[in-house]
Amino acid sequence: MELARSINKARAAVRSLPKPVGFVPTMGALHAGHRSLVERARVECASVIASIFVNPLQFGPNDDFLRYPRSFASDSEQLEALGVQLLFAPPAEHLYPPGFATTVDVGAIASRYEGALRPGHFRGVATVVLKLLDALEPDVLYMGQKDAQQTAVIRRMLVDLNVPCTLVVAPTVREPDGLALSSRNVYLDEAQRRAAPSLYRALRSVASAIDAGATDRERVLAEARRELEPPLREAYLDVVDAVTFEPLDPLHAPAVVIGSGWLGTTRIIDNVTVEKVLCPV
Ligand code: AMP
Repeated sequence: MELARSINKARAAVRSLPKPVGFVPTMGALHAGHRSLVERARVECASVIASIFVNPLQFGPNDDFLRYPRSFASDSEQLEALGVQLLFAPPAEHLYPPGFATTVDVGAIASRYEGALRPGHFRGVATVVLKLLDALEPDVLYMGQKDAQQTAVIRRMLVDLNVPCTLVVAPTVREPDGLALSSRNVYLDEAQRRAAPSLYRALRSVASAIDAGATDRERVLAEARRELEPPLREAYLDVVDAVTFEPLDPLHAPAVVIGSGWLGTTRIIDNVTVEKVLCPV
């Protein structure tokens, strides 16, 4: 596996790889969720490239940028073992030169839920993803359903800015008790870790109700909230359109049930999709 720290070196290396090139952007601290994206790209693409970049632009002043887990040596070993041909890991000053001022604002989708709790977060995400796509010119971009709103934001950006790259969204990888894998799970103490899967239970309760034909939003959400287990405190729980992230009222399929909860100073997020049933039995 080749390691590139500069855009020029990375771009030249990617241009010599067989196409299609699949790209998995990450912030490192790799877990089985990240690995599933690389494995999927390996199956679907002739070449696989990845990036590790803890993007300062997507962290707010109260976010965990400084304490975000970093494990470059082990991450890069894992990527190499998975068959990644090129790892792009630029220093922040290289992606954001002195005087950097241009950002990508994706509009309404980026303003709700995660966007409301983390002002400027999706501007940072969209900007860095566009810069990475410009630097690496991959054919296929692999992202996780775990960050559903992020995928909606990036899809909007790819369409709006004519970016010639296909987005593939891969399923969320979970712990046996249902908790979605996340680099931030290492922050949880024992009691918090025990309560964490209750978020997924609440999401599934909403999804089953919609599957069963329920349309009363407040009632369904109130019922699901009973699943949330202290010390987990709800940050949001809602049912939204997968493309616009606008809340659905009355409820119907298809939809994405999204949720987030605080465990101490750590916030976890998750979601479950509800597909439209074409032939109800
Ligand atoms: P991150 O390193 O948190 O920026 O995540 C890098 C990519 O991995 C993003 O596309 C995430 O959506 C994806 N990802 C994170 N957690 C999971 C998971 N549990 N299952 C599948 N993909 C994930």
